Amino acid sequence: MRNFTYGHAASIGDAVSAAAGGAALAAGTTELLNWMRLGIAHPERVVDVSRLPELDGIRAEGGRLVIGALATLGAVGAHALVRERAPVLAEACLRAASPQLRNRATLGGNVLQRTRCPYFRAEAPVPERMPWACNKRVAGSGCSALEGGWDRAALFGWTDACVATQPSDPAVALSALGAEAEIQGPRGVRRIAMNAFHLTQEEAARTAPTSNTAAFGVETQLRSDEIILRYHVPADAASRRSAYLKVRERESYEYAMVSAAACLDATDGRIRQLRLALGSVAQKPMRLTEAEARLRDAPLSEATIRAAIVAALGAARPLPGQAWKTKLVENAAVRAVLTAGGIA
Ligand SMILES: Cc1cc2nc3c(=O)[nH]c(=O)nc-3n(C[C@H](O)[C@H](O)[C@H](O)COP(=O)(O)OP(=O)(O)OC[C@H]3O[C@@H](n4cnc5c(N)ncnc54)[C@H](O)[C@@H]3O)c2cc1C
Ligand code: SF4
Repeated sequence: MRNFTYGHAASIGDAVSAAAGGAALAAGTTELLNWMRLGIAHPERVVDVSRLPELDGIRAEGGRLVIGALATLGAVGAHALVRERAPVLAEACLRAASPQLRNRATLGGNVLQRTRCPYFRAEAPVPERMPWACNKRVAGSGCSALEGGWDRAALFGWTDACVATQPSDPAVALSALGAEAEIQGPRGVRRIAMNAFHLTQEEAARTAPTSNTAAFGVETQLRSDEIILRYHVPADAASRRSAYLKVRERESYEYAMVSAAACLDATDGRIRQLRLALGSVAQKPMRLTEAEARLRDAPLSEATIRAAIVAALGAARPLPGQAWKTKLVENAAVRAVLTAGGIA
């Protein structure tokens, strides 16, 4: 690891100035320290934001939940208000990582975690001499995962430059909830819908200045001089009746093969409103808006739900040997909706 300076931000303004000056912001450091250890990041300056009280706390406000960026996954998962009004978020937090990590990992840092692609995560302290291809590590070097059989590769929105997926569990729940991130930068405060916060490789390539490969580092709409202050989470009827389903290789301490978050408002056996998001299938949580629209006022039955989800998954582009993943996603999505509806 290379030398770096370390200090605490005294205010939000201080943190924004530090980020604008190229410093790495640190909250729980469960991700940042790994990047530094593996050679993914080499910050000369680390500025800790974990003592800023404005970023903390969980409260109800005007029919919404407001959750500070510093709230840990453990605190969000255990909080009575979250468990009652947005259980999908509590479940997603409690199914992420291990208890020790959840006590340190923050919701702000969680959505900014990067892919678990093994070629991206392998230790290579000197990127210039990295002996394998990974555009996210060395732009223009290529993508080993394209032919590497990585089973968490994207089904949607990928390009030949990168097939990585976003691995956050809470981000999938926040997307299904219709939450927004409140963000501060030098130009003021703005909000981004969590549905649009992350970018697929195709979306990133459209916003990147030059080439497809230049998009390797662009994964969210957050600018480098901005800080996430808090999340605004609607606590409507659908949010209250929600479920998170995570399919993984073992029941504890494992990232998702695929996941699904469903928020459902249903009465008298009919769906009034459904919001459905999938995880680990793209470089962003994928909202199935087409299926959501098709299921409005439809019967709450497995056959109807499955038909709408299968139609929405028609756009999937699995890599060779990964067609099984589309079926896994279909089953996870159907089961999440049925669970939210109390019939699974
Ligand atoms: C072994 C292991 C297993 C894990 N398993 C899972 C899992 O199953 N599911 C899952 O979802 N996650 C999992 N995680 C990821 C974990 O949840 C994240 O590492 C954690 O939430 C990141 O939060 P942090 O506060 O530690 O971020 P940090 O490491 O402090 O920061 C991460 C990044 O976010 C930036 N950042 C942090 N806060 C802010 C802010 N408020 N505004 C702007 N930028 C900010 C930092 O600058 C940095 O770039 C796992 C992690 C580990 C190490
Ligand atoms: S999928 Fe993306 S992160 Fe993985 S090797 Fe390819 S370029 Fe690198």
